[in-house]
Amino acid sequence: MPQTRIQELRREVDQINLEILRLLSERGHLAQEIGTIQSSLGMSQYDPKRELEMLEMLVDANNGPFDDSTIKSLFKSIFQASMVTSQAAEKPKFLSSRAAREDTVVMIGDVAVGNGHSPVLVAGPCAIESYEQVDLTAEFVASRGVKLFRGGAFKPRTNPYSFQGLGEQALRWAREACDKHGLYFIAEIMDARDLDLCLDYVDVLQIGARNSQNFTLLREVGKTDRPVLLKRGLSSTIEEWIMSAEYVLSEGNPNVILCERGIRTYEQYTRNTLDISAVALAKLETHLPVMVDATHSGGRRDLLVPLTKAGLAAGADGVMVEVHPNPAVALSDQKQQMDFDQFDDYLEAVGYDKKLSAHRHEVYGF
Ligand code: PEP
Ligand code: MN
Repeated sequence: MPQTRIQELRREVDQINLEILRLLSERGHLAQEIGTIQSSLGMSQYDPKRELEMLEMLVDANNGPFDDSTIKSLFKSIFQASMVTSQAAEKPKFLSSRAAREDTVVMIGDVAVGNGHSPVLVAGPCAIESYEQVDLTAEFVASRGVKLFRGGAFKPRTNPYSFQGLGEQALRWAREACDKHGLYFIAEIMDARDLDLCLDYVDVLQIGARNSQNFTLLREVGKTDRPVLLKRGLSSTIEEWIMSAEYVLSEGNPNVILCERGIRTYEQYTRNTLDISAVALAKLETHLPVMVDATHSGGRRDLLVPLTKAGLAAGADGVMVEVHPNPAVALSDQKQQMDFDQFDDYLEAVGYDKKLSAHRHEVYGF
């Protein structure tokens, strides 16, 4: 008999559990609605006075068997849970967030970047200076299996009297050399007014560090479907960098590759400080491919190998380096570009190994 009674009571308890759950859910929805209104009014969602009033009301109504402190502690847990839910409901959902979708793979022609594909290497001169220079470099890096060629036609220079790049002429030369040697071409766009021009020549639109928060430019490249290599700003926080990517994504272009290129710190031994945690964090926080620009981050040839290895160890999907036939006479970044022999040594030192990719071409992969 007592066994049957226990079973009966347990069934009642089960029903009450379900009823409490239903009420908790209802309460949670109400709290979410209140939270939404409060944040639209710029009000804080934590209101200790209101919590105290609710606890007093509950203690007054408490008829046992639980004592007042137990009731208080149970309800404090409910208040806490409701606040977390209402804040989560208010947290904006970004297109760039890891939670938004599975890992993005950006296709540059037949080269896949991101989501565990072999890291890619981008190589080429800082700036395109002549047809001979771009043709020689393109031929050389292509002979080493590189598929992605870089070279600036519009150069963002601190000093307005420094070499500014050769504009359309440079784009034309580089396009010709890339087509001749089977390379994809990456070049920086500095001004939204050059978009149509750049679209005629480049496979990847690079947004430079100095334009990382040029929101007009970000929106314009976001209206295309061309892959975008988005450098981190000179002093951008990781959030600012990710929000810049969000600008491009929000206009409908999903093909964004983030590129950590070092940030400004007090350190003088390097041009910038490669923020290796930013590489790992960008991979954790977003679903976008992340690259490391080993050249501009350190600003030193002797750091290219360790910074490349560090970037790859942190999960980078690719690395960018500058290569020039004769860096000593380069019109920009003489100190950090590699000549062809140095590039060969670099490839060997970073363990860049010839292997057959999933694609038709033989490419190098780390
Ligand atoms: C570049 O890659 O040519 C360049 C100017 O880099 P950053 O914008 O990162 O300085
Ligand atoms: Mn450069």
